[in-house]
Amino acid sequence: MGFVGLGHTMRLRHLAMALSNLPPHPQHDVSLEQYATEGDFAARWIAEIVERGDLEESTKVADLGAGNGILGIGCHLAGAASTLLVEIDPTCQHDYDGVEWLIGDVSEWKGHDVDLVIMNPPWGVQISMADRPFLEAAFNSNAKVVYLLHSTKARHIQPLAKSLGWLGEETLGGTFRLPAQYEHHRSREGGTKVTVWRFVRN
Ligand code: SAH
Repeated sequence: MGFVGLGHTMRLRHLAMALSNLPPHPQHDVSLEQYATEGDFAARWIAEIVERGDLEESTKVADLGAGNGILGIGCHLAGAASTLLVEIDPTCQHDYDGVEWLIGDVSEWKGHDVDLVIMNPPWGVQISMADRPFLEAAFNSNAKVVYLLHSTKARHIQPLAKSLGWLGEETLGGTFRLPAQYEHHRSREGGTKVTVWRFVRN
């Protein structure tokens, strides 16, 4: 049975489990801002995309700054037509049936053959504006919808999206436990607040 056919709780649980069992992101390069999404949160996010009707059998997905591919593979398991994982760090790559990798800088991705972009890219905390090429790649692509996870504190996303012709709304929120290397960015509550944005063309 496909993703959509299963009961809501069942499919969420299955998806969360499958995604939690992927080879973990090595998270070894601080300059690349490697903080991985956890399986439970990724599954909630994918379920939200499906419920909104943004992910169907014909949907071509690109996951930019894919890490171990948790977000893109989630879309693949939810029934996407094709999934491309774009990641600069070759040590993140692993064999997974039904998905393709582009190992290289996000600027090498042409953005032609895509319906949905999903991404938790670098936030530009370690290296200022490191998120910029990701935002530009997504908003200049042929995608119909863009899902983005970013720090809740970020204020530049909405204006940038707007200037490139996109309109955003917040869909999900959560708290990330960042790896120890990023400890100094933690808020007093012991985690970092994140927001998932959904953008469509204005
Ligand atoms: N999307 C994954 C990983 C998030 S961390 C998840 O949610 O778990 C951000 C990822 O972007 C890291 O894996 C990092 O290696 C990758 N990255 C950083 N700069 C990049 C660039 N210029 N081009 C492509 N990938 C990049």
